[in-house]
Amino acid sequence: MSFDSLGLSAELLRSIKDQGYTKATSIQEKAIPAALQGKDLMASAQTGTGKTAAFTLPMLQKIAAQADGGRRHIKALVLAPTRELAAQVEDSVRTYGRHLKLRSLSVCGGAGIGPQIRQMNSGVDILVATPGRLMDHMERGTVDLSGVETLILDEADRMLDMGFFPAIEKIVKTLPKSRQTLLFSATFSAPIQKLARNFMNSPELIET
Ligand code: AMP
Repeated sequence: MSFDSLGLSAELLRSIKDQGYTKATSIQEKAIPAALQGKDLMASAQTGTGKTAAFTLPMLQKIAAQADGGRRHIKALVLAPTRELAAQVEDSVRTYGRHLKLRSLSVCGGAGIGPQIRQMNSGVDILVATPGRLMDHMERGTVDLSGVETLILDEADRMLDMGFFPAIEKIVKTLPKSRQTLLFSATFSAPIQKLARNFMNSPELIET
């Protein structure tokens, strides 16, 4: 299916064209219109299926529509299991958001915390983080998540396998309840379903 009928803005369609994509993948075709409607989604998708664009494009569209000239604050939070994956996601956010005036930052362990604090203070719209490093910032009081309207859990099954359930629970408890939550996972195991029950609002199931 072409991207034109999914409800994406002209700026995002331009970025997609810049990338040379001609057709939406199956997960994109299903997830993008549902996410644009504001629904919570629980999607099963392996790496390589185009899942990153499936959550990044609607997230960017929602934030760009809200940009109000006020003080920049974190409006979307993406949690990913590893530094490599967080860096890839942030790269996609920059690529697809190139025609929008939004700022993103990825905060992961292994990098100095001082520069991350300075970048955070200079104003960020989209934060991509690993749960451990984000907890670190929360404990230091160096991150403000009170304006998060979209939460994305990428490779949720891997985050649980790595023992991040308690950190995710603590992070999610501090977020506004009125947010939209998108969960992507290779499998829908029992722990993933528990995560969905605890943190999501009647999610629509998307299987590819
Ligand atoms: P992901 O599953 O998100 O890791 O994406 C896998 C790869 O597919 C990435 O290199 C993307 O740039 C690419 N990709 C994403 N969506 C499309 C599409 N609709 N057409 C062609 N390539 C795509």
